[in-house]
Amino acid sequence: MSKAEEGKVYLVGAGPGDPDLLTVKAVRLLSAAGVVLHDDLVPQSILNLAGKQALVISVGKRCGRKKITQAAIHDLMITSARRNLVVIRLKSGDPMIFGRAAEEMDALREAGVPFEVVPGVTAASSAAAFLEASLTDRRVSSKLIVLSGHHAARSVPQPELWPGSLPEDATLAIYMPGKDLAQVAASLLKSGVSAAMPCVAVTDVSRPQAGYTASPLGGVADLRTSSAPTLLLVGRAFEAVLARGAEAEQTCLDAINTLASSMAERSELE
Ligand code: SAH
Repeated sequence: MSKAEEGKVYLVGAGPGDPDLLTVKAVRLLSAAGVVLHDDLVPQSILNLAGKQALVISVGKRCGRKKITQAAIHDLMITSARRNLVVIRLKSGDPMIFGRAAEEMDALREAGVPFEVVPGVTAASSAAAFLEASLTDRRVSSKLIVLSGHHAARSVPQPELWPGSLPEDATLAIYMPGKDLAQVAASLLKSGVSAAMPCVAVTDVSRPQAGYTASPLGGVADLRTSSAPTLLLVGRAFEAVLARGAEAEQTCLDAINTLASSMAERSELE
């Protein structure tokens, strides 16, 4: 195994939250880090793996009360590397998926600072494992489309999630779907996705509080949303997950009905 190099920036994937999903390489680099620049979504349990000598700095959307700019993050990486430190730029999931890695690699190349990318488990892979649903179940899905929904959450009109019609046999993994799932749903319906298409909103995947809610696309607007990181999965690959939800609901209704009728019987006898 190679040693962590001083004066180098490592763009490291932290995975979806569970420290057990870190790569061996990520753990090794964290223990040798001089500086760790991390995103908001990286949990404390992972930051605790940084060596005692490391300076751990949050460069998430909010750093203290002030917003840190992308340019400032580039400066921090470059300055730390030029001071001959092992620099870990720690990102949730995989750094190459909605992680601004392209801009950061450009800045490092331009500054002549050596860097290396260490992949991580992306939210969609972890959500598939959690739901026990293959993203590319070949019986129903032959394509995986990775999308960002954050435009849809803005109040000003934005381009559709997918211009034109979406293929029937695609699985969609929509990162950052925003709080207003109604807009995402409207956009998908416009792209020809059936109102009956299974949709699953998975939150906090790989963390103890992980959960999901499922609905056909037509009912997605009513799904509960929260400020927890949420991934919206859409496609026939989730038919069994949707059925499972309906089954659980039916089981509860059946239990309530049985209880209600036995209570009614009892009160008749009294
Ligand atoms: N690079 C990350 C994605 C960063 S964008 C990756 O590969 O996973 C941030 C979005 O990722 C969140 O808005 C959410 O859609 C998704 N996400 C990240 N962690 C998640 C988690 N633990 N559970 C659900 N979604 C998650």
